Amino acid sequence: MAEPAAAPERRGGNMTEEGVVIVGGGLAAAQTAIQLRQLRWQGPITVLSAEDVAPYWKPPLSKSILQGTEPAESAWIRPAEFWARRRIDLRLNTKVTRLEPAAKTVVTAAGELLPYSHAVLATGASCVVPPLPGLELAGVHVLRSLGDALALRDAAGPGVRVAVLGGGFIGLEAAAALTARGAAVTVIEREPRLLARVASAETSKVVLALHRGQGVAVLLGRGATHAAGAGRVESVRLEDGQDVVCDLLLVCVGIRPETRLAEAAGLACGDGILVDTSMRTSDDAVFAVGDCARFPSARYGRGLRLESIQHAIDGAAVAAAAICGQPARYDPLPLISSVQFGQQLDFIGLAEGADASRVRHEGDEHVLLHGKSGICRAAECLNAAPETASVLRRAIEAGEPFGALAVA
Ligand SMILES: Cc1cc2nc3c(=O)[nH]c(=O)nc-3n(C[C@H](O)[C@H](O)[C@H](O)COP(=O)(O)OP(=O)(O)OC[C@H]3O[C@@H](n4cnc5c(N)ncnc54)[C@H](O)[C@@H]3O)c2cc1C
Repeated sequence: MAEPAAAPERRGGNMTEEGVVIVGGGLAAAQTAIQLRQLRWQGPITVLSAEDVAPYWKPPLSKSILQGTEPAESAWIRPAEFWARRRIDLRLNTKVTRLEPAAKTVVTAAGELLPYSHAVLATGASCVVPPLPGLELAGVHVLRSLGDALALRDAAGPGVRVAVLGGGFIGLEAAAALTARGAAVTVIEREPRLLARVASAETSKVVLALHRGQGVAVLLGRGATHAAGAGRVESVRLEDGQDVVCDLLLVCVGIRPETRLAEAAGLACGDGILVDTSMRTSDDAVFAVGDCARFPSARYGRGLRLESIQHAIDGAAVAAAAICGQPARYDPLPLISSVQFGQQLDFIGLAEGADASRVRHEGDEHVLLHGKSGICRAAECLNAAPETASVLRRAIEAGEPFGALAVA
């Protein structure tokens, strides 16, 4: 991703007064540190990550790395030497156990106390594992970290039967990657259609046809009641009594924002760490970015918590600017993209409240445009040409009239 032009140098003060401590080791943490240096923040930057590897991109974890076509190293956000070269003190295997806003310190699991002038919580999210019997069995996987992806890739070779619980983005991307790897995949979705949380019924149908056409068994409208097996998972029981026989079970039913540090520190939380439009929490010196943050969206008139690359990057840039004392205001048009069986899916904006829609199929291109009160609001695209996607994005961003664009 191109970095913006360097800003005039900003001089930090002494170590304790001007140090930024970032909690987390994912994209939002990395991007905050990168942006701070880009904005010429001169003071110390410390990134405290509970993980044992440097920050990496997550999209390949459910695509090329899971399929086995790219190595783990392809996911590094920056080469290993980058962090020290930019004077970013990246500390791995360092879990933060406490944030003390009054004292402006964080405390690590090893008992180390780190003072800060500004703290950034980039603690991400963890996979939800529903409280169903049998999900503690060996062979039950989740997919969030690089370690999760490598473990699943190694277990799911050709011929292995994999049941995927959840027909959302991650479950479907994993289903596609594992099918391409030669596994026999069954997707189990409790809702009557795939991608029910984000896509319209038309797009769900197209995605269903794509998966079934590639040999994925998709079971809709029935949830799982439990998993069974002697020591290892062998089957999943559905609500209607059907047993899906499997060697592995991948649970992809959603994520929960990691808010425990913030809550314990007394920061305002509610399905995410609450921030303002500059990503500042209820404590002036503490910011939150990425999957863990919930911001007020003027565009949609409500709080939003996004789980996307765009949000991790753009929200981090806003927090970094605010820390550097520059005006910054966050009100993004949500963008989510996905790749399944080589097909590109782009979701631009949120269709909530839409009162009109127009669909266009042409070859393998499918574009669904949503309008509200005569204004372009959102689009769902499958295999849209990049020019089409950017025209739609600009039109939705600018709130252009729906009628003209729908006809075009
Ligand atoms: C498999 C997968 C595929 C995806 N594909 C796409 C895609 O194609 N397109 C898209 O837009 N989005 C995609 N996403 C979503 C996107 O990757 C995430 O929204 C984004 O990476 C979130 O970044 P983050 O830094 O907020 O969170 P995370 O990446 O979860 O990072 C949080 C970090 O904080 C650390 N941490 C938590 N608590 C502590 C603590 N107390 N002390 C120290 N460290 C702590 C964690 O160990 C972790 O390293 C995908 C996500 C996944 C899981």
